[in-house]
Amino acid sequence: MIVTIDGPAGTGKSTAARRLAARLGFEFLNTGAMYRAVALACLERNIRVGDQTDVAELSSGLTIQFRQQAVWLDGHNVTDRIRAADVTEAASIVASNPRVRERLVDLQRKCADGVDLVTEGRDQGTVVFPAAECKIYLTASAEERTRRRQLELESQGQAVDWEALLEEIQQRDYRDETRSCSPLRPADDAVLVDSSALSADEVLDALLNLVEQRLPRRT
Ligand code: C5P
Repeated sequence: MIVTIDGPAGTGKSTAARRLAARLGFEFLNTGAMYRAVALACLERNIRVGDQTDVAELSSGLTIQFRQQAVWLDGHNVTDRIRAADVTEAASIVASNPRVRERLVDLQRKCADGVDLVTEGRDQGTVVFPAAECKIYLTASAEERTRRRQLELESQGQAVDWEALLEEIQQRDYRDETRSCSPLRPADDAVLVDSSALSADEVLDALLNLVEQRLPRRT
């Protein structure tokens, strides 16, 4: 069974998807980490993220793996590095490159071979797994997503300018929703879950409930 969870940045998708996969005993795939890994490779090699040809060529030679709950780029553990602000910004630009998307979509489908999977991203229900048995679109207001990001950064000891953070989130939304290649949108058969007023546990319960309704009946 494939469960897709799509939605904009900061809705708590990754946490919810990881916990859902653990509860169901499914594999978990964080596709944003793949775009982040390509972005990091560009930054490390001084390749301009907006240069579509160079970025596509670079991405076709990269090895991106998920092992021991970590993300590996060409054999190096980049789990923490890919969460940095410069990589976040670059990833959303790299993600509008059609050839990069083609390569990563291929990798994502390979990860689903022969396993039950919870996968999260922007295009999992619309493009990558159009026949997925359960599709969820997780959303929340931009203000609430900014508030959550602010708390997260402050807990890491980073000072935060709320207005700047809100603008950054809105810019990423705009880029994801308006790009010509696989724009962010709910699949026609996705169920919308608004997490603005829900705790992480309540989101998990809502998702579990949706998946359980679609699990094949055992006789
Ligand atoms: O989800 P996360 O914030 O880690 O994703 C990083 C970037 O990768 C996003 O800003 C988005 O532009 C892009 N992305 C995408 N398609 C996916 C997953 C992520 O375009 N399936």
